[in-house]
Amino acid sequence: MDCLFCKIINREIPADIVYEDEHMLAFNDINPQAPTHMLIIPKRHIATLNDLEEADLALVGRLQYTAAKLAKEAGFAEEGYRVVMNCNEKGGQTVYHIHMHLMGGRRFTWPAG
Ligand code: 5GP
Ligand code: ZN
Repeated sequence: MDCLFCKIINREIPADIVYEDEHMLAFNDINPQAPTHMLIIPKRHIATLNDLEEADLALVGRLQYTAAKLAKEAGFAEEGYRVVMNCNEKGGQTVYHIHMHLMGGRRFTWPAG
């Protein structure tokens, strides 16, 4: 499949992998928007948030739970951090394999851009 993040999962493209388990992979974003900027992805290919089905509810929970776990490990969980999921073109999605951005180490503003 011609998917950048599936290629990272399959080790066909290198990435700075920071976490892996049976269901999830996390790696540093190549163009970080914060001192720490990781992407957390399910190992199963799902193109956009719109493609989630009820059977995927546990997977989405795992994605969010993994973000909090990695934030704690990175040391910024208490001071605060930002998680973002972009959907489709106007939402700013550029890679069509769902991913959660986990950003920390600076102050974020709201509402975002
Ligand atoms: P999106 O815009 O789809 O929400 O986020 C895609 C993210 O993937 C961007 O933050 C971008 O910097 C990151 N990205 C794109 N290509 C690569 C790559 O080859 N390696 C890594 N580690 N990150 C990538
Ligand atoms: Zn994929």
